[in-house]
Amino acid sequence: MHTDLVAALDIGGTKIAGALVDGDGTILVRAQRPTPAQEDGDTVMRAVEEVLEELTASPLWGRAHAVGIGSAGPVDASAGTVSPVNVPGWRDYPLVDRVRATTGNLPVELIGDGVAITAAEHWQGAARGHDNALCMVVSTGVGGGLVLGGRLHPGPTGNAGHIGHISVELDGDPCPCGARGCVERIASGPNVARRALENGWRPGPDGDTSAAAVAAAARAGDPVAVASFERAAQALAAGIAATATLVEIDIAVIGGGVGKAGDVLFAPLRRFLADYATLSFVQRLAVTPAQMGTDAGLVGAAAAALASGAGVTAAGV
Ligand SMILES: [Zn+2]
Repeated sequence: MHTDLVAALDIGGTKIAGALVDGDGTILVRAQRPTPAQEDGDTVMRAVEEVLEELTASPLWGRAHAVGIGSAGPVDASAGTVSPVNVPGWRDYPLVDRVRATTGNLPVELIGDGVAITAAEHWQGAARGHDNALCMVVSTGVGGGLVLGGRLHPGPTGNAGHIGHISVELDGDPCPCGARGCVERIASGPNVARRALENGWRPGPDGDTSAAAVAAAARAGDPVAVASFERAAQALAAGIAATATLVEIDIAVIGGGVGKAGDVLFAPLRRFLADYATLSFVQRLAVTPAQMGTDAGLVGAAAAALASGAGVTAAGV
C-alpha cells in the first residue's frame, strides 16, 4: 500500500484539530475536539486520543507514514514534551510518546505552533518561494518561526523564531514570560485593547473591547485607537528589524487576528520598519499579511512530518 499521507495535529488552548493530509497539503479527513485546557493532563490527552482514534478509524489511515504535531508552546522537540502556557495540566508532558503509543509507533515530529504556521506559509502561503523568511502570528499572543536557507529552522527544541518574547523596550512592563518590554507585551491583541482603554478609548454600544473593535475604531479615525495600533506596529517593526539584521530574512509574514487589521497595522509597521531596518542588507525587507487560513497549523504540522519522513520531502519545506 502507498504510504503517501501523514497525520497532523494542531494543539491549541481552545481546540485540538487533527487531519490526514496528502503530499500536496490537501486535507482528506478531519477530526476536532475542544481542549479541556483547565483539566488535568491525562484528561487533555484523552481529547487528543479521541481525535487520533477518529483518524485511525478512517479507511485511509493505512496510508499514513508519520505524524506531525504543532503545539502551543513552549515545546521541547528534543525531549518530546510540551508545556503550553495556557494548558497548565501539561508541564513537560510526554506528548510524543503518548501519540506514538496511540498511532502504532509511527514516527512523530513535534514543532511549536509558530513554527508550524511558518512551515505552512512557506509551503503554500505568503512566504512561498522565499528562502529566508520570518512568519508571525499576532493574536492573543505573538509567536513566530523562521525559514533559513530554504528550510524550516525549528531549532533544537522546536521554538526558534519566537519573536513575541524579544524585548524591544528595555525598561518596559513586566511580561508573563518573566522578561520586560517584550513584543507580545506591546503588540498582542489584548495589549492593543488594554492600551486603548487606558488612554480613554471607549467601546461602542455593543461593549466590544477586543483588538478587532479597536481596529474598527482606528479605521474610523479615533486617534487613541490609531495610537494603540501604531505602538503595536512600532514594537513589531523593532522585533522584525532585529531578526532581519541577525539572520538576513527578506520577508516577514504576519497572520493572526491583529494581523488581519489591515492598513491600520501595516501602514505604520512599514513606516517604523524604515526607521529600524536601516542597514543596506535589510532595507528591501518586505512585510506582508499571511495567506493561510485557519488550517495553517494542520498544514504546517503535516509539512514537518512530510519533511522528516524517509524519502518523502514536502516541496520546499
Ligand atoms: Zn515575554
